[in-house]
Order: sequence, then structure tokens, then C-alpha cells
Amino acid sequence: MTVSLKNTSGRLKVIVLAHETFCAARGQCGCDVPAGRGARRTPRSLTLATGMTATGLDEAVLALPEVRRALQRGEITVEREVPAPPRTPTGLRRRRGAGRHSPAQEEAR
Ligand SMILES: [Zn+2]
Repeated sequence: MTVSLKNTSGRLKVIVLAHETFCAARGQCGCDVPAGRGARRTPRSLTLATGMTATGLDEAVLALPEVRRALQRGEITVEREVPAPPRTPTGLRRRRGAGRHSPAQEEAR
């Protein structure tokens, strides 16, 4: 599931998506890994300007101590994004006519 975070603190927030926490909670590494042997991975970070909402974040961000602390202080708000219900696969086989209108397609019951 994804979440959105809104910065309500009134100042810029930079949240480091630490590998040990974020990637671990996510079960997948999302760090930048430069090419070359022995290169260190760089965690990504999330910059939230004042009043800005970042959407589509992995809920693993909630595992970050920084985020928890900010939530407790009321500096950010979190919202769980409910995924849109998948469309019925019935229509998958139909090919779309080129630019044709079919007004009766979304017939309500
Ligand atoms: Zn990582």
C-alpha cells in the first residue's frame, strides 16, 4: 500500500530514506548504487516543502524514526492511499476501435 505525507510543519523537511530502515521495511533496496566496485549506496531522500504533499510513497516510510517523530509532533500528516479497484478483466480482450465513441459502454445498473 502507498501513503502520502503532507508537510504541515511550516518549514522544509528532508527525510532520508535510510537503507537500514526504509529498504529493510520495504523488503527491497531503493537506494542509488553508483557503478563501480566498492561504491557506497546512497539512500534517497524525500524533500517536502512547506504545505507540500508527497504521494505514492511506499508505506515503509512510516518505519523511519524521523517520520514517526514528525508525526507525533504533528509536523506531518499521513494518509493511506487506497488503491483504485481493478477494472473487471472482461473488457481486456476487446480491442479499441480507432477513435470510435461508444456511449453505452458505462451503463449503470
Ligand atoms: Zn537501500
